[in-house]
Amino acid sequence: MFRILANDGIDPIGKELLEKAGFQVDTNHIPQAELSEGLKNYDAITVRSATKVRKDLIDACPNIKLIGRGGVGMDNIDVDYAREKGLAVVNTPAASSLSVAELVFAHLFTGIRFLQDSNRKMPVEGNTRFNDLKKAYAKGIELRGKKIGIIGFGRIGRETAKVALGLGMDVLAYDLFEIPKELELVLGGNVRVNCPINAVSVEQLIKESDFISLHVPFSEKPVLGKEEFALMKDGAGVVNCSRGGTIDEDALLEALNSGKVSFAGLDVFDNEPTPRQDLLSHPNVSLTPHIGASTNEAQERIGTELANLIIDFFKN
Ligand code: NAD
Repeated sequence: MFRILANDGIDPIGKELLEKAGFQVDTNHIPQAELSEGLKNYDAITVRSATKVRKDLIDACPNIKLIGRGGVGMDNIDVDYAREKGLAVVNTPAASSLSVAELVFAHLFTGIRFLQDSNRKMPVEGNTRFNDLKKAYAKGIELRGKKIGIIGFGRIGRETAKVALGLGMDVLAYDLFEIPKELELVLGGNVRVNCPINAVSVEQLIKESDFISLHVPFSEKPVLGKEEFALMKDGAGVVNCSRGGTIDEDALLEALNSGKVSFAGLDVFDNEPTPRQDLLSHPNVSLTPHIGASTNEAQERIGTELANLIIDFFKN
């Protein structure tokens, strides 16, 4: 019987699929420092973003034949090394795209109506304070008719564009690769419509967008730094549900403090899991602890897809 260690957990549906196919699945978490011992008797390990599968762990556990990542980013796995050693490395890249895209709009709606700050300051005692807050949050805006600039037009960027189009926003898109001229939206009642996408240069996108949302992988140089913030419209909003490091956090803080950027919605940070305090406590920053893929639906899709990939690998 093949033994799988789901070290960062796996949705019950995925576990059940694997068990029905005859695998033993352990979901007990083994701390990183103990993994090179604890993993020795397993045939495969599945992880999310927490567990690191580096060269030394791969070398210490020659029984491992497959590393599965529930989700997209594989920065926590030495993928090339594992593949050189003949291991299969699989992930579930599309399963969480819609959930991440919807979180972008949770941050956008929060930012344009000051929910992050009103959540912190409510409840209040007495009329005066209530009326002060009413005044403070009276200058909200609507999303319809506004421009959203999407940097990185892959799976999540496109899902984000579809939600934006559904809300009546205009989409500007930039990617290193070619961008489709239109996207098909599936609306309620299974109505399908094709909507245009404006592919533009990154400079034009930054200059013209009311809101900018990042959907790129990690890279050494941040995509939004001091120069890019300077180019933005006054009062632009910024959302990052991609990876820490894609925004220069010093430059973001400066732009927030000067009012150049009116709000930021952040699901990812430098230095996770201990983001810097001055961003965390900023009144114009809406925060979530890297939960883009953390919906029941996405986790079910991830668990199912991962289980099927493992079954295919070991049984075929
Ligand atoms: P994807 O590979 O489908 O798309 C990424 C796109 O970014 C590609 O089209 C690529 O060409 C483009 N790109 C790369 N560098 C670029 C640059 N400098 N400028 C413009 N475009 C660039 O990936 P995806 O599935 O859409 O994921 C996007 C990001 O979201 C990744 O960083 C992923 O790790 C992250 N993510 C976050 C969460 C979360 O919980 N917040 C969950 C899933 C994925």
